[in-house]
Amino acid sequence: MTLEKNNFASGQCLCGNVKYTVISPPVRMGQCHCDDCRKSTGTEHSSNAFFKKDDVVIEGETNNFSSNTDTGSKITRYFCPKCGSRLFGTSNVVTNVISVSAGTLDDSSWFKPEAIVYNKRKPKWDFIDKNRG
Ligand SMILES: [Zn+2]
Ligand SMILES: [Zn+2]
Repeated sequence: MTLEKNNFASGQCLCGNVKYTVISPPVRMGQCHCDDCRKSTGTEHSSNAFFKKDDVVIEGETNNFSSNTDTGSKITRYFCPKCGSRLFGTSNVVTNVISVSAGTLDDSSWFKPEAIVYNKRKPKWDFIDKNRG
């Protein structure tokens, strides 16, 4: 790969089976407290950086699982089949964007969530819809 020196970020799963490179800064950053994110991560929330799909280069095989959201869209979460690290997420509604789990970044010091989704029992802030128009 010849992208090396202009890369914005890189990361990998726990075992190193899946590696990725990102060539541009995220279009959005957020964390989500919904039930599905809690289940899929095994922790209190997911922290995600959203990138343009074309800006993320993935090496290695992932497995995935799709589930429906409250709003009727479908989220597919991708994980390493070997070590189980949750790495990526895509939506069937916003198809040109991929989310990257912030915890899998080699250097996540730049990460700053702008949107908190499903925070406690407050009404959901659907930040994707808000910015779409
Ligand atoms: Zn792995
Ligand atoms: Zn969620």
